[in-house]
Amino acid sequence: MSRAEEIAAGLHGVRRRIVAARTAAGRRDEVTLVAVAKTFPATDVRLLAGLGVRDIGENRDQEAHAKARELADLPLTWHFIGRLQRNKCRSVASYAAVVHSLDRAEIIDALDAAAGAGERRLVGLVQVSVDGDPHRGGARIEAVPALADRVGGCAHLDLGGVMAVAPQDADPRAAFDRLADVAARVRAAHPHATVISAGMSGDLEAAIAAGATHVRVGSAVFGRRPSAR
Ligand SMILES: *Cc1c(COP(=O)(O)O)cnc(C)c1O
Repeated sequence: MSRAEEIAAGLHGVRRRIVAARTAAGRRDEVTLVAVAKTFPATDVRLLAGLGVRDIGENRDQEAHAKARELADLPLTWHFIGRLQRNKCRSVASYAAVVHSLDRAEIIDALDAAAGAGERRLVGLVQVSVDGDPHRGGARIEAVPALADRVGGCAHLDLGGVMAVAPQDADPRAAFDRLADVAARVRAAHPHATVISAGMSGDLEAAIAAGATHVRVGSAVFGRRPSAR
């Protein structure tokens, strides 16, 4: 199989899984596939774009920035989904349209300032730690409404909604249900903040059952990554 055929097969499988999960959940709304390209080359992203995928996820600024530059001729939407450091905000704000990983006031303010300096407007999601384990990033659930208000009050950020990474070694359903609860609370205060970014290669069905509007899928599209990232 050529690389193009491998990627087409991966994408086809993921699209089928998304449709099946939506049908099983009785949902008629769209679920957006964010294809997570970390560790995979820009040539792979170009092949995927040729198959109609527009939303690309990355978790490291340096890698993301280089790919965004190399693929600037394509109509792609870049999603930054990794841990965000203050000193990376300028760079991230230069190419990303959506940042999924806002989990503390300091980083919200830094990204807002960076977006303003670059004359850009970004969509920000508040990342939720659905089980209190700080390892995967995310704010404690109790802190989420105030962080959402903070994003909503920023001059250069639009609050999109919430994001979470479920524990990979346990049944993710309870985590996704907690995320759906906090998403509803955020939406009550910010009616346009409808995004629920949840679900990866191993758990996208459970995430869609719990209301995910965006799934972030890497290995099921591109194949296995060489590292644990
Ligand atoms: C790597 C990553 C994904 C995709 O993981 P896969 O298991 O390859 O689908 C999704 N979300 C985040 C935050 C990631 O870092």
